[in-house]
Amino acid sequence: MNANGAQEDRVGPEDAFAEASMTVVHDEANAYDAVVPPIVQTSLFTFSSYAEMEETYKGLKNRPTYSRGLNPTVRVFEEKVAELEHTEDALGFGSGMAAISSTVLTFVKPGDRIVAVKHLYPDAYRLFQTLLARLNITVTYVDGKDQDAVTEALPGAALFYMESPTSWIMEPHDVRALATLAQRQGVVSVIDNSWATPIFQRPITLGVDLVLHSASKYLGGHSDVVAGVVAGPHALIDKIRKQTLPYLGGKLSPFDAWLLIRGLRTLPIRMKAHEAAGLDIARRLQTHPKVASVQHPGLGNRLPAGLDGTSSLFSFIFREGVDIPAFSDRLRLFKLGVSWGGHESLVVPAQVVRNQAAGPNSAIDFGIDPRSVRLHVGLEGVEALWNDLKEAIEHASR
Ligand SMILES: *Cc1c(COP(=O)(O)O)cnc(C)c1O
Repeated sequence: MNANGAQEDRVGPEDAFAEASMTVVHDEANAYDAVVPPIVQTSLFTFSSYAEMEETYKGLKNRPTYSRGLNPTVRVFEEKVAELEHTEDALGFGSGMAAISSTVLTFVKPGDRIVAVKHLYPDAYRLFQTLLARLNITVTYVDGKDQDAVTEALPGAALFYMESPTSWIMEPHDVRALATLAQRQGVVSVIDNSWATPIFQRPITLGVDLVLHSASKYLGGHSDVVAGVVAGPHALIDKIRKQTLPYLGGKLSPFDAWLLIRGLRTLPIRMKAHEAAGLDIARRLQTHPKVASVQHPGLGNRLPAGLDGTSSLFSFIFREGVDIPAFSDRLRLFKLGVSWGGHESLVVPAQVVRNQAAGPNSAIDFGIDPRSVRLHVGLEGVEALWNDLKEAIEHASR
């Protein structure tokens, strides 16, 4: 007996710790009936027996082993995106660029050629011009409005990469027509759908093979996650899952997946609010005497078939006589910052991006007018946002 009267051979503190370590509550099937999916914040999953482990490794049983490959919270997000995009399967990534690079690298090999529309998201363009060039993969850039040029470029290509509307200049394409051209040539087609989201555009239903997103933007919707996702039929997604994702390792974290699931719950109402506010601000800018033109797909004629609405990221071009740095500094609600898709309104002056000093792309001209400014219209309220813009323009006008 010791001083406390306990038997020396009873369970000591260390043994109790070991006992407690073995306590596992299994409720995999229904997650305790939680209305919100739990964050399964674990790197690995253990097996109950040698037989189960062997079965899993033989591929006879599909269950999580290690969170680089499969994690239940990430899987909930993937299944939701697959549903939203009207397709079978999806894969989450740690960023939109991880989704883009893993997807593209799954379908090309050295010597191959990609056909891509012009005015891509700049880092996708840089990926093509730098890393892919080092792998001896070439890219033919085409005007997505010119279907003859696309028809001419496609034969023999390994991949057709689209974005509609395109980055910065916001040019919408006839996605169904372009996807049909790719199908005819047997070329796998991919589209970046970050701008429209599945609320306004469901490219799989238009004949595109794979649809990807920077989930950092509208899907997440709260400016608190960097993430990506690609969706499509099982056969193509499985190729990415098996051939690329495990080795490039750009996986999505359970906590970020959980934030994305929360964001998705309000996606339809957020998108409708962004659409209304964005169009309202775009129309007011269009009639402003200091504005030369507004690049917003909702202002033109009809939207192309398959694009059911517009989000709130667009650009406009100032006339001479507006000091753009002074305008930028005067804004109070619109913050200077990249990215988009959250609550906050944001502004990016083109000249800053064009002057981007570092990297291999300093000399690349993206064809953006130096007097153009990109806006993301957030959810602060249109009147306050318009007053902010109007006042800053007035202040910056000579
Ligand atoms: C931001 C963005 C990306 C890249 O996504 P990240 O999550 O930042 O890696 C890709 N495409 C478009 C259109 C984007 O705006």
